[in-house]
Amino acid sequence: MNVGVLALQGDFREHIIALGECGVTGKLVKTESDIEAVDALIIPGGESTTISKLAKAFGLAELISNRIVDGMPTYGSCAGMILVAKSIIDPASDQETFGGVDMEVRRNAFGRQTESFEMDLTFKSISGAPIRGVFIRAPWVESYGPGVEVLSSIEISGVTHPVAVRQGRVMATAFHPELTGDNRVHRYFLEEVCKK
Ligand code: GLN
Repeated sequence: MNVGVLALQGDFREHIIALGECGVTGKLVKTESDIEAVDALIIPGGESTTISKLAKAFGLAELISNRIVDGMPTYGSCAGMILVAKSIIDPASDQETFGGVDMEVRRNAFGRQTESFEMDLTFKSISGAPIRGVFIRAPWVESYGPGVEVLSSIEISGVTHPVAVRQGRVMATAFHPELTGDNRVHRYFLEEVCKK
């Protein structure tokens, strides 16, 4: 299976390293033919407005959306979570998403004071030690439809906010497992999401 990492902006190199630790040689994806050549795609963390602008400018946005609709396994982390959402609360003007998960996400949900933090998370179907969640100006899932499975969530002031979700072959995390050296979330994507 050819797994691509969208390499327009953001921490795509860290995803390539995480895939390598799982025994998979990830391919950097920058062009239409790159996208056509991969079986699965990771959309990295970074800046969702920039990634979406570049994807449109390079003529990749519609192709990615179509491949997601056609069932290409896709995993978005942080900015990538925003890009696979159906809609965004407070989007930058003209910011569009590729879609894939029937959810509305709130960008920069944790606010300025807590722009970045780490915490241990439980993640459905991943046993053992907790997953270390690295949140960097992260979104959360504000609302979601019945087809969405919540894999991990955090509670703030008594309100539960999903921070990892899956709908069929599309998965998203608000945090960055690619920055922790723990590749269990990538393995979950490769073994559970890609193979179903
Ligand atoms: N806040 C960023 C955005 O809106 C996401 C940050 C990240 O990917 N670490 O795209």
